[in-house]
Amino acid sequence: MDNETILEVREKDGLLVHQGVIRVPYTWAAGEAASQFYAGLARKVIYGIRCTHCDMVFVPPKKTCHQCFAELGEWVKVSSRGVLETFTVVHYSEPELHPVQAPFAYGIIKLDGASTGMAHIIQGVDLDRLQAGMSLEAVFKEQPEGNYLDITCFRPAGEAKGHG
Ligand SMILES: [Zn+2]
Repeated sequence: MDNETILEVREKDGLLVHQGVIRVPYTWAAGEAASQFYAGLARKVIYGIRCTHCDMVFVPPKKTCHQCFAELGEWVKVSSRGVLETFTVVHYSEPELHPVQAPFAYGIIKLDGASTGMAHIIQGVDLDRLQAGMSLEAVFKEQPEGNYLDITCFRPAGEAKGHG
């Protein structure tokens, strides 16, 4: 089988045991809202989507308003700067779970122009000095590819921009 690699066949407690790896190819469609969002990130622009009924601006964008259940469709550019709403500091590294080495923080950042916060990595700051309400800005990858990690992290606003 193309999708399976047998690593070892052995006997254990009178039974034959196959140990192997099954490869599971898949195709994942990001959906209409996320596709536009990622296309924006590939140009280092962060888009939100505004509800024309209740005025909420969702970042990341959604298809339906959580507030009034209207279908969303009005795209708006939001700032790459915002305010840290809450955070948690990660002290252990788990390469298959976290895209960066510990210590770092995950935070919810509400960008200027958005009504909702987006979750992301926070680096470039003394983690003991993190506090809700501080200003952060997005750091974009040099060569964005159209995915969430085109923003490599958020860091305190006002420091050197556009590198990292
Ligand atoms: Zn709404």
